[in-house]
Amino acid sequence: MDRQDIIRWLQEEDPQRLENLWRAADEQRRRFVGPQVYLRGLIEFSNICRRHCGYCGLRADNTAITRYRMSEQEILDCADKAVALGYGTVVLQSGEDPAVTCQWLCDIIRAIKARTPLAVTLSVGERETPELAAWREAGADRYLLRFETSDPVLYDRIHPPVGARRSDRVAMLGTLRKLGYEIGSGVMVGITGQTYGSLANDIELFARLDLDMIGVGPWIAHPDTPMGKGAPQAPASIYQVPATELMTYKVLALARLVCPMANIPSTTALATINTAQGRELGLQRGANIVMPNLTPVKYRSLYAIYPGKACIHETADACQQCLSRRIESIGRTIGQGRGDSPRYGRDMSMRQEDVS
Ligand code: SAH
Repeated sequence: MDRQDIIRWLQEEDPQRLENLWRAADEQRRRFVGPQVYLRGLIEFSNICRRHCGYCGLRADNTAITRYRMSEQEILDCADKAVALGYGTVVLQSGEDPAVTCQWLCDIIRAIKARTPLAVTLSVGERETPELAAWREAGADRYLLRFETSDPVLYDRIHPPVGARRSDRVAMLGTLRKLGYEIGSGVMVGITGQTYGSLANDIELFARLDLDMIGVGPWIAHPDTPMGKGAPQAPASIYQVPATELMTYKVLALARLVCPMANIPSTTALATINTAQGRELGLQRGANIVMPNLTPVKYRSLYAIYPGKACIHETADACQQCLSRRIESIGRTIGQGRGDSPRYGRDMSMRQEDVS
């Protein structure tokens, strides 16, 4: 599939022809990653952030939210809960919180590894290489860092640097790969200024980076951000990608076609714009992962990257039950164990063959 094919699919409106895209993505998912849906327990452990991302409600100068950081004990309690609920992975996610020091997070990673068999995924924004190396050394397995858009001009507009250094998430993904992490990335669909051409470039970049995990969700306008203020949706034009549910499925399906072995979540943002069916449709159009929320309910509504987030008042148990039911209702099974990246396993066994 070349760039023109990708653009054609992104612009396809005919429901009959789109059925072919859904079918192809579902078939590819079935062949390469099978019927299992892996559950990753999400712990949103701090909403404190030093950055000024134009889209995100956690941006430093949003004074409308109460800030929190969970204690080490609270995080470990969530990890224990993940084990009790049968999850194989926890994802530790936060804003770029300066008080999350290298040592503090190392200690937490080690403690989780010492008491549980869980895979640990980090999603804590842009950090220095020595910190990434130390966390890997402490036992972290995977890292999620969406590049958000591959268009450098648009990226700088929505994601201003801190200090003099330009942020370069693609370079950081390369560093993470070299350090031995499984790497995940992705984009928001329909951010203001995103064209079909640039979204097609994003999808091609997924393949070039040979990602282990790909997260895509619709951009949801947050009224307390520069991008979400005033114009809740980008003005319609023939170039602008709309931030719709349908467009998100197209990107999910295309991601599956260009990266057949990747782990692809059916995201909370998708469930937010279609509470009734978003999760299931995502799973039937390319996705094979869901990320139930383990964050204690008292903090959950404060992790407001966008408004109206799905599952905000549910306890971890309720979230697990709801998602398991949804997965089984579409004839899929819940994956047991860590659900490591198949492409990562392939790499590792190739490395072992090199050695022997
Ligand atoms: N600080 C970390 C984690 C951010 S939250 C980081 O920057 O990597 C994870 C993802 O949520 C972001 O990468 C972004 O793609 C998505 N997100 C943030 N604000 C959003 C919004 N308003 N609508 C939809 N998705 C959003």
